[in-house]
Amino acid sequence: MRIDSKKMNGMCTCGKEHLMVTRGAVIEAGATARFAELLREYNISGKACAVYDQNTYQAKNLHRPEAVCEVILDPENLHANEAGVAAAKEQMAGNSFDYLIAVGGGTVHDITRYCANEMHIPFVSCPTAASVDGFCSTVSAMTWGGCKKTMPGVAPDIVIADTDVVRVAPRHLALSGIGDILGKYTALADWKITHELNGEEVCSRIHDMTMDAVKAVYDCSDGAAAGDADATEQLMYALLLSGLAMQLMGNSRPASGAEHHISHLIEMEPPGLQVSSDASHGEKVGVATILISEYYHRLAQTADIAPFVRPYRTFTDAELRDCYGERLLDGILSENRPDLAEAVSEQDLLRAWPAIRKIITECIPSAQDLRDLYTRVGMKASLTDLRVPEEKLEELIYFSPSVRQRITFNRISRMLDTKRMS
Ligand SMILES: [Zn+2]
Ligand SMILES: [Zn+2]
Repeated sequence: MRIDSKKMNGMCTCGKEHLMVTRGAVIEAGATARFAELLREYNISGKACAVYDQNTYQAKNLHRPEAVCEVILDPENLHANEAGVAAAKEQMAGNSFDYLIAVGGGTVHDITRYCANEMHIPFVSCPTAASVDGFCSTVSAMTWGGCKKTMPGVAPDIVIADTDVVRVAPRHLALSGIGDILGKYTALADWKITHELNGEEVCSRIHDMTMDAVKAVYDCSDGAAAGDADATEQLMYALLLSGLAMQLMGNSRPASGAEHHISHLIEMEPPGLQVSSDASHGEKVGVATILISEYYHRLAQTADIAPFVRPYRTFTDAELRDCYGERLLDGILSENRPDLAEAVSEQDLLRAWPAIRKIITECIPSAQDLRDLYTRVGMKASLTDLRVPEEKLEELIYFSPSVRQRITFNRISRMLDTKRMS
């Protein structure tokens, strides 16, 4: 399977001109055996430096690309942070390159992307597992100075994904990728609901390409979890497409909504909440998608919300301080001041309600359907599976909108007396 940027770039019916930095993606069995040939096809030449970790260096079925320098990072405690970048730079020292190749998962990609940006050279993405949708990201998700930060980076020039490598990667990595993709159900619903509330532009081309990817993964997740070749190709395609949709959009709106906010909140380990989890990003997003589905479907049961609607109230400084503590407070306040949802009136919500109910019931699978699927394929399906106490659910739902300024239906549900609703 191939993805060609030329077919996606250009003027759109939404009125915007979409631009993808990544020129193309090849998702094929045996793609790494034809690495040199594919580079030639995309006119990439010169001195390469390939970045691995010790696991991906030994990845089964991988034909390692030709490179004048091989950086092999120690996977023990490897993170996309100062230490990870320093370790990569140390092994590159004294050489100059024309391009970098990231051979690995999300962390190897974020370190490579950061270095490529600093060195002003392109990089080629070679994902070894279908674990996240961030391979095609334009920014590096890093932990810098102990804080989660979005650091400058570059999107890959091209992607070469060898499904023979990806399908034999450890199974939990594919399960994580499936979770990250299924989160688009609620992310896309949040986008459309916001459009109903305040007219935020929804690009139907970007929406539909992401939705197609999610539905395909929903249908093939059993096969993808089992390492079936076609299903693995479909999952990898969906992950890349979701990343490319973000490139076209210029932000993560199509790929990240209320479910990602719950995952981010758990990752931040706010002192007032006392939660933490060593589950992967996609596992947390997968569980959060069930929680958000359950919450949204419950609210959508009420046809007449007039008795429960109240004016929107933003988070107070005091409650944010209690939850996040001084260390995280400044960052969180900047996400909430101004609070974009304050412009949504009670009349807006009442008027949009029939459309919102329709979006929830038609676009988001029920929590039970998701749970059945997760159980069948062996994915983590509950807070307990993430080692987060079940009694934290209410606080996670309540505080998670505050991690990002983006409007989601969860943030808007602050306008509903949800306790009195069925
Ligand atoms: Zn994600
Ligand atoms: Zn568009």
